[in-house]
Amino acid sequence: MSHLSINNLSKTYPNGVKALDNVSIELENGMFGLLGPNGAGKSSLMRTIATLQDADTGSVTLDDINIFTQPEELRKVLGYLPQEFGVYPRISAEQLLNHLAILKGFTNGKERKEMVKYLLDKVNLYDKRNKSVKGFSGGMKQRVGIAQALIGNPKLIIVDEPTAGLDPSERNRFYNLLADVGKEVIVILSTHIVDDVRELCTKMAIMDQGQIVYQGAPQESLDELKGMVYQKIVSRDSLEEYAVNYSIISNKMVGGQPVIHILSETDPGNGFEQVRPNLEDVFFSKINTANTLV
Ligand code: ADP
Repeated sequence: MSHLSINNLSKTYPNGVKALDNVSIELENGMFGLLGPNGAGKSSLMRTIATLQDADTGSVTLDDINIFTQPEELRKVLGYLPQEFGVYPRISAEQLLNHLAILKGFTNGKERKEMVKYLLDKVNLYDKRNKSVKGFSGGMKQRVGIAQALIGNPKLIIVDEPTAGLDPSERNRFYNLLADVGKEVIVILSTHIVDDVRELCTKMAIMDQGQIVYQGAPQESLDELKGMVYQKIVSRDSLEEYAVNYSIISNKMVGGQPVIHILSETDPGNGFEQVRPNLEDVFFSKINTANTLV
């Protein structure tokens, strides 16, 4: 069992944006979801943990590795699937993984060949191993991304916004693969898509404006809102009025009409019906978007 400890990380970019504001998180093996709206600071946090950028203050340790003073130790046990995995070359999946394994220090040709075969198998691309990665679908490219992140048996895998651009079936496949991988190592999944976290993660944190605004199990967060979420179908014209009088946490169009969810400790009456909270309610109730919903 590995343990990743993130302590009081802060980072202000030269342009004055405070992307990380005293972030602390404790993680163990399993899938951890980092949820937050665009601009929340997720990528900044992921890049910091991946030793691709530094922080102004704070520390990160993975078991006995201090990642800021021993970045090369961390890189040996890190698998990273960045938001943009870069340009895919016109070489086969097998050649690409072989090449990346060499870069990661696998000098023994026989061992490397076996590992690449194992990885291609694991991500279900063995049959396509001789095809050019450039011609792969989005989902297949993401699976190559996971395969490269798995080179060398990492203890920590960081996946940044992995399902953007995948169609539903590709996404399911990718989820299954990640869930499988997540049993044995620490996987941090950074995303703004609530479904990604709901379906995959046992623990999560919600980040907003550089801060961790919630940390715990998805189910616990749902229990916290139990009995407090009410819904109503309203007309578009009256949205603004509702925004003044109620604490709206989400506003969705269903069949062309706005359906609002509000947070209320007592029955608001006025045609609202109580609904079972979902993870989206949790997300919107924790982040600071109330003003932008209408
Ligand atoms: P997320 O991944 O949650 O979308 P980011 O970490 O990419 O968030 O960005 C957090 C904030 O920091 C945003 O306001 C973004 O514009 C800003 N930011 C990110 N990278 C840089 C950078 N290299 N220089 C300056 N500002 C940055």
